[in-house]
Amino acid sequence: MSQKKLLTSMTRVELEAYLTRSGQPSYRSDQIFRWVYQAGKSQPAEFTDLPLELRQRLDQDFIINPLELKETVSSKDGTIKYLFELQDGNFIETVMIPAAGRKTFCLSTQVGCKFHCAFCASGLHGFKRNLEAGEIVAEVLNLKYDYGHQPTNLVLMGMGEPLDNLDNVLKAIRILNDQHGLAIGARRITVSTVGLIPGLKKLMNFESQINLSLSIHSAVDEKRTQLMPVNKKLPLEKLIKAAEDYLKAGGRQLTLEYIVIGGFNDSLYDAEALAAISRRLKAKVNLIAYSPVAGLRWQSPTREEMERFKTWLEERKVRVTIRQSKGIDIAAACGQLAGKFQ
Ligand code: SF4
Repeated sequence: MSQKKLLTSMTRVELEAYLTRSGQPSYRSDQIFRWVYQAGKSQPAEFTDLPLELRQRLDQDFIINPLELKETVSSKDGTIKYLFELQDGNFIETVMIPAAGRKTFCLSTQVGCKFHCAFCASGLHGFKRNLEAGEIVAEVLNLKYDYGHQPTNLVLMGMGEPLDNLDNVLKAIRILNDQHGLAIGARRITVSTVGLIPGLKKLMNFESQINLSLSIHSAVDEKRTQLMPVNKKLPLEKLIKAAEDYLKAGGRQLTLEYIVIGGFNDSLYDAEALAAISRRLKAKVNLIAYSPVAGLRWQSPTREEMERFKTWLEERKVRVTIRQSKGIDIAAACGQLAGKFQ
């Protein structure tokens, strides 16, 4: 990889320190943020209100866009999946999901994933590395400026487990949230996790109120372990206790993500177990119909099975929505396109 650093990995405070070390006034950080995040420029030569010497120095020291687009795939429903190559030749995916006046960007946080969930393509090819904060930020910049999508929401639910790369994820969120930059409100940002407890503890002290989703996928330990090997080390009761602590510390309301797999986790017994957890955490439930992944044995539920499962939850006073699976025709579930290239 090039010796240059990623400019998009720097918070404004870090950029100010760099400028001061370079003998420049620190207010130039605001100008640089405006060029990169509000004008979408990726070449310092275009930062026309900066002195030439500084522009040359920035060019020498930094890369602004570390992503190269390799492929896009568009779904009939408007979902677009972008495959990017990183500076070191690895691949990641970012997905733009349009729905009801929203444009949600689904961001990757790692190349591959360590957690090997049995329904997920990202885990199939193993873990390569964490993404830098600037690579996560660049996913948003590329979709916004190069492809013209204004994000309304960001979900960190693409390749990787965000809490396994939490320092870089939180730094990326600070940069995306900066008022001099993209100014994406924390409440429009959702981090999704399998429930890594050290990460949940760290999140309790994070200064911004982001949304947190817990990937449950089964409320019965034996089944959850089959789907998510992490459940052996972090069984449901430990996860629920950690989530209760997170809420007590002032965390916003949680969402429980539940991929419904036909004939596996969609019985009345499964619904009762899920309802019990939802009531304990006062969490809403998001049901997602499993999308088939080539090479994996699981089945999608029928529409009737999804509705029946939802009704069972509603009868148990759970607030529940069905999240429409998007991009099924382009295999938009995380990791499927990158896996093809990896
Ligand atoms: S679902 Fe998330 S945590 Fe599990 S393997 Fe896929 S990317 Fe990793």
